[in-house]
Amino acid sequence: MHFLWLVSAFSFGVLSAFVIEKSNKLNFLNERNLESLATTDRLTGINNRMKIENNVDEEVERARRYDRGLAIIMLDVDYFKQVNDEYGHHVGDVALKEIAAVVQDGIRKVDSVGRWGGEEFIIVLPETSLNEAKQVAEQIRLKIENHEFTVVQHKTSSFGVAAYIQGDNSQSIINRADKALYKAKELGRNQVQGL
Ligand code: GH3
Ligand code: MG
Ligand code: MG
Repeated sequence: MHFLWLVSAFSFGVLSAFVIEKSNKLNFLNERNLESLATTDRLTGINNRMKIENNVDEEVERARRYDRGLAIIMLDVDYFKQVNDEYGHHVGDVALKEIAAVVQDGIRKVDSVGRWGGEEFIIVLPETSLNEAKQVAEQIRLKIENHEFTVVQHKTSSFGVAAYIQGDNSQSIINRADKALYKAKELGRNQVQGL
C-alpha cells in the first residue's frame, strides 16, 4: 500500500513538472511572437518604424557616449506613385517587398533597416563614416537599379546620407539624412547625396 502511494506521488510530481515546463515554453513563444509582431512591418517583414526609431536612439546614444562613428541612410523610391497608378496597389506592394529584400541583402549583419513609411526606408550603420555610408548607399542604389522587379521590371531610388556629429540627437541626424535625400531628388533622383 505504501509503495502504491509512493509511485502515484512520484508520477504526479513528474507529470506536474512536465505540464509546468510545457506552459513556460508556450508563454515564452507567445511573448516572442508578440514582440516580433510589435516590431515588424506587416508588408515587408523588416523592422517597423517604432523599432528602427529605437535603433537610431540606441546607436546615437552609443556614438555619443563612446565617441564611435554612426551613419544613417534614408531611401525613397523614385516616382513610386506611378507604379500604383499604372499597375495597381497590389503590384506596388510586391515592389515594396522586393525593395526591402534587396536592401536587407545589401547591408552588414550589424546594420539594420526599417520601413520609415510608405516607400521610404531607413538604414542604420553603426561604426560607419559618412564616406563609407555613401559607398554602401551607392551599392544599394545600383542593386535596386539593376533588379528585375515583378511586373514593374525597373525602378530607381534616391538616397540621403548623414553621419553622426557631436551634439546630434536622433532627430537631428535623421533631419540631415532627410535634407540630403531632398537634395538627391532635386538634383534628378537615382543618386546618393550626403550631408
Ligand atoms: P518621388 O520620386 O518624388 O519620391 O515620387 P513618388 O511618386 O515616389 O512620391 P510620392 O510621395 O508622391 O508618392 C509616394 C507613393 O507611395 C504614394 C502612395 O500611393 C505610395 N504608397 C505609400 N505606401 C504604400 C504602400 O504600402 N503600398 C503601395 N502599393 N503604395 C504605397
Ligand atoms: Mg516618399
Ligand atoms: Mg518616392
